[in-house]
Amino acid sequence: MATLELHGLVKRFGGVTVVDGIDLTIPDGAFVCLLGPSGCGKTTLLRLIAGFVAPDAGEIAVGGKRVSAPGSVVPPERRGMSMIFQSYALWPHMTVEQNVGYGLRVRNLPADEVRRRVATICAATQLEPLMKRYPSELSGGQQQRVALARALVVEPQTLLLDEPLSNLDANLREEMRFEIRRLHDEFRYTTVYVTHDQSEAMATADLIVVLNAGRIEQAGTAEDIYRRPSSAFVARFVGGANVLPGRLAGLATPFSIRLEDIELVAAPGAGAAGAVRGTVVRRVFLGSSRDYVVEADGELVRVTTPPHVDVQPGEPVWLGFPPERCHPIESVPAGGS
Ligand code: ATP
Repeated sequence: MATLELHGLVKRFGGVTVVDGIDLTIPDGAFVCLLGPSGCGKTTLLRLIAGFVAPDAGEIAVGGKRVSAPGSVVPPERRGMSMIFQSYALWPHMTVEQNVGYGLRVRNLPADEVRRRVATICAATQLEPLMKRYPSELSGGQQQRVALARALVVEPQTLLLDEPLSNLDANLREEMRFEIRRLHDEFRYTTVYVTHDQSEAMATADLIVVLNAGRIEQAGTAEDIYRRPSSAFVARFVGGANVLPGRLAGLATPFSIRLEDIELVAAPGAGAAGAVRGTVVRRVFLGSSRDYVVEADGELVRVTTPPHVDVQPGEPVWLGFPPERCHPIESVPAGGS
């Protein structure tokens, strides 16, 4: 069992608190993404889980056994975990086959067993035709597969990935995220995946943990987080929702609404009940949609429409805000709506 339990985890660097009281349970076999902007502490949290970094407070347990606490850290190689780094970190002087088998050879497994396990994992990661090549003879995506195979061949209970796709082009990123999820489903280890890319998190994870300034802002399924953001930060960071002032139950309340949930109609035609008049400030054609920025009631509102809705900058529009698509949120951080 590789259930990971994080209790009150704190890490400071030079007086700055980078991980600030994290409580999180990651069930055995789950695929969890740590999602947040640059500098929010994702990598530090992953390194705490791996055992590369010791906490200043709190503890980590794996399968009910404590592996990290201040002053007592079980080393990475004794946690049943493999980690994949952004840079892949392949050995340049070893072939694919030797790179993949490295973790087994240092464990002194018999040569026969090393060969058998390397062959199995290279088949699962579609590396068989490349086994005699060196890393410099591989594309970025192929190197990423070698890093995956090398991490998986030791049969970890937990796989940790730190921005594993950031060096790949957009098409390959999409292909590899499905590959990472497919391998997870095939081998059923626990995965913790760090990314700042919301679509990567939404495409792969069972549970998304949104981090901001070392704390958990919200944890939930992709749909929970997208549809019901619990703070202005989450609403904006995941999907770039509008956070606007509104009035609800007689109280001034900010609410979030997704770009695609606002109805935009060219004025002077009649707007829907409760619609607000505004002026198009900016318009971008994106093929399958158009993105607008509309100034209305002193706010800049972002709207996505189907491509056939075509209104020029400077022209008036009506914006409709269907009440069932408006989600009240508790706070708007300093710095505006
Ligand atoms: P990114 O997406 O840019 O990698 P991140 O969310 O992974 O960011 P971390 O790498 O965890 O963020 O860093 C969080 C903060 O801690 C940053 O301000 C960083 O400069 C600082 N930090 C990280 N490691 C160290 C260290 N070893 N010594 C001092 N400060 C550090």
